[in-house]
Amino acid sequence: MATDLEIARAATLQPIGAIAARAGIPEAALIPYGRTKAKIDFDFIAAQAGRPRGKLVLVTGISPTAAGEGKTTTTIGLGDALNALGARTMICLREPSLGPCFGVKGGATGGGRAQVAPMEEINLHFTGDFHAITSANNLLAAMVDNHLYWGNGLGLDPRRVTWRRAMDMNDRNLRNLVLGLGGATQGVPREDGFDITVASEVMAIFCLARDLGDLQARLGRIIVGQTRDGRSVTARDLKADGAMAALLRDALQPNLVQTLEGSPALVHGGPFANIAHGCNSVMATALGLGLADVVVTEAGFGADLGAEKFLDIKCPSAGLAPDLAVVVATVRALKMHGGVAKSALGAEDVAAVERGVVNLERHVENMRKFGLPVLVALNHFTSDTEAEIEAVRHAMARIGAEAILCTHWGDGAAGAAALARRARQLLEEGHARFRPLYAPELPLAEKLRTIAREIYHAAEVQIPPAIAARLARFEEMGFGRVPVCVAKTQYSFSADAGRMGAPSGHVLPVREVRLSAGAGFVVAVCGDIMTMPGLPRHPAAEGIGLDPAGRIEGLF
Ligand code: ADP
Ligand code: MG
Repeated sequence: MATDLEIARAATLQPIGAIAARAGIPEAALIPYGRTKAKIDFDFIAAQAGRPRGKLVLVTGISPTAAGEGKTTTTIGLGDALNALGARTMICLREPSLGPCFGVKGGATGGGRAQVAPMEEINLHFTGDFHAITSANNLLAAMVDNHLYWGNGLGLDPRRVTWRRAMDMNDRNLRNLVLGLGGATQGVPREDGFDITVASEVMAIFCLARDLGDLQARLGRIIVGQTRDGRSVTARDLKADGAMAALLRDALQPNLVQTLEGSPALVHGGPFANIAHGCNSVMATALGLGLADVVVTEAGFGADLGAEKFLDIKCPSAGLAPDLAVVVATVRALKMHGGVAKSALGAEDVAAVERGVVNLERHVENMRKFGLPVLVALNHFTSDTEAEIEAVRHAMARIGAEAILCTHWGDGAAGAAALARRARQLLEEGHARFRPLYAPELPLAEKLRTIAREIYHAAEVQIPPAIAARLARFEEMGFGRVPVCVAKTQYSFSADAGRMGAPSGHVLPVREVRLSAGAGFVVAVCGDIMTMPGLPRHPAAEGIGLDPAGRIEGLF
């Protein structure tokens, strides 16, 4: 089989105007970025607000493994298949980050015959949104240090500046640094560090903002640090919010692209799901719901991270109520959860599937706690055997869930037709009774305990006294009602990446808590997860380059 890039490159893409017309977007509302990408202008978006809303389908997955699960691929395949059935469907995805593109995971435009295109452009600079977000983040950082330099009128304590710089790259050397060295004219020395852009609060704000006014209000609420007497200093105090909003203005308009089968897709915003809230922008989702009968959207990593945050952070904040959850699993990944090494995945091993399927079972049962009907999409790999597939079906039947075999990676829309038919039926029957996992009035530590108990099956959350005091302080400051965004490894329900399957009774150690006052959540960093990833010994970047014709090769 050809590579994702070869398939993408061989496709003939339609002019973006034709895709827009299919989605009900007039030419006049398009801001073209070349021939096959366009932003949708604010006036048109505002005009959609009062329209009847489509149904919202969340695609999530089992705890990821090195074997690959295919959530993005399935989101695209399902969207294409719903369109083929005659349901007007919009696909809503996140924009890829350069970190994973050049690191381990590769790009994020789907795979096989279920991709969004133009693949290389979406995976690299796209329409520049991440550059805008990075610039807005770093403008605020520059204004913080400039404020310290010019006399520090607000009395910021340089040791208590919490605002960090950002870059969309995996670069562990930037995690912790000392800057402002070199003498009196070179700035005020202090400790600082970089987070990857997709973990930054500006990215979260960008994705949660309902419009430009909300964007600027949230940017203004960002807390950059404390004074010596413990008062918070905000971006608005520094008069940075206006310029940050100006930098982000054009970027906040969602990006329209197409799938290889000509379905419209909005690809906009892109926080990671392990170290951030993991969903595409509210702007894009809301626009999609105004335009289409069905919106299919992906939340990152396993359902314990991306889906939990989609349901407890994004949906309540944006007033969204999803109608269906699709949990993506593969036989290969379930075998790894059952203890098989990646190198041994070729051989049939039904017993390993039976051991590993506990991971899928728990994610399905977790989604039901939010009042959602659940379908399991079994993303077919050519190495799967009939007996292994049957073992998954059987395990799902035991818990009253349906696993539907999907071959959209190899067959495009036709391969997800059965999934689409069943999804449409469930949407029409209207089974969803969506409710977030916890109420806003629950204390912050209790919210964290609820997630740990109900979703991770942890026995205990370890909150050291200094962190408990910080949580209490956030509550005194008036932020007790916000949700908690857990940063932890994506590989396990626990904070230990090595514990696959469905561990229970573990301890969730909270290492740090940060208030994202602008985004409107508290981040709880659990275990040894990093908000600035590093590159592996042999990064994907080593295999990426240009061919003699000047075309990009090696992206996957
Ligand atoms: P996720 O969104 O869960 O991280 P993706 O949809 O991005 O996963 O897929 C990850 C990789 O796996 C992609 O390179 C894709 O081409 C590949 N992939 C997905 N489904 C299949 C499949 N059924 N067979 C072979 N490769 C697949
Ligand atoms: Mg994905």
